[in-house]
Amino acid sequence: SNFPIFSSTASIAWSIRRFISTLVVAEHEGGVVKPSSLSAFAAAEAIAKENSISVLLGGSGETLQKAAAHAASSHPLISEVLVADAEILAHPLAESWAELIHSVQKKGGYSHVMSASTSFGKNVLPRAAALLDVSPITDVIEIREPRVFVRPIYAGNALSTVRYSGQDPCMMTIRSTSFPLLVNSTNTEGRTVPINQVDVSVFSEESLKKSRWLKLTSQDTERPDLGNARVVVTGGRGLKSAENFKLLEKLAEKLGAAVGATRAAVDAGFVPNELQVGQTGKIVAPELYMAFGVSGAIQHLAGMRDSKVIVAINKDADAPIFQVADYGLVADLFDVIPELLEKLPEK
Ligand code: FAD
Repeated sequence: SNFPIFSSTASIAWSIRRFISTLVVAEHEGGVVKPSSLSAFAAAEAIAKENSISVLLGGSGETLQKAAAHAASSHPLISEVLVADAEILAHPLAESWAELIHSVQKKGGYSHVMSASTSFGKNVLPRAAALLDVSPITDVIEIREPRVFVRPIYAGNALSTVRYSGQDPCMMTIRSTSFPLLVNSTNTEGRTVPINQVDVSVFSEESLKKSRWLKLTSQDTERPDLGNARVVVTGGRGLKSAENFKLLEKLAEKLGAAVGATRAAVDAGFVPNELQVGQTGKIVAPELYMAFGVSGAIQHLAGMRDSKVIVAINKDADAPIFQVADYGLVADLFDVIPELLEKLPEK
């Protein structure tokens, strides 16, 4: 043949690459893709390299269309946005979403399917994986190779490197705090990314009966979302009451921070459990994490130890939180918070 001898190797490498195609199941709100899903695009980039990324968005109405346009322009490797327009997908019900992903995967034959490790991703992806008969890999914090991943185990006390050896698709949830948050700075100008409708006649009566959407209760707050706030102020059992948490809220307002809590504070009924940080709560990695009256139990550290700067205020000098703190203050929080409130400038 006319081909040089190394061409077969090159073409094998090319065909392996060609088979990498990633589907990111994304979330959106108010017409934009959620920050956690933007981080999933960054994770997908680590797998896709020069290959393409497809995005799946579901819901209905104008906000869905707007979010699709946002997704199309949010990363240069995104080659297609798939839009599933159905009222049932407006709510994060695992049954319908799993059937959608199953059907989109059957059609698209992606090598990887991923979502952020949010309540949505943790709910939907395992069910979709079961329908596709594969084992999902959860909480990925690093992508070494397209099928080699790092994930925390034992509440973050050890990191495990896993190689996926199952059939396609390789399904995973990624920890958004471990991947960069892409802002629209990427060079996407001059590209037209197709936005295609997907078939939404795939839902079975049987599965739709399994769960029903009742309502969304969320606190109306102007404070940033705990998951992506730059500053988090957390209160533990040391706060002693729901009333005292108001002090912390005032501090959060001054700092433009989100409020977090330990499980002990949640269990005592001081704050709702959506504020819980830790192994069984939210994983956060803000620029600044301030812990007031928090002992630093291992299950709490699992949710915040990756914060850039940790400040701990505790009256017990032996509290384990001081072992992870960059700045520690052995003091009574009921003295410290009022003083901070007084000395910090108005926003
Ligand atoms: P404590 O451990 O009671 O600490 C209170 C601290 O406040 C003490 O250090 C005390 O010195 C200090 N303090 C008291 N008064 C003052 C004051 N006036 N001024 C200054 N300091 C003061 N916990 C989580 O947070 N998140 C989780 O996701 C989570 N998941 C868990 C999962 C499992 C399976 C299990 C078993 C436990 C989990 N926990 C979790 C619970 C965890 O083990 C701890 O019980 C909890 O984190 C303790 O919360 P705390 O620090 O608020 O309370």
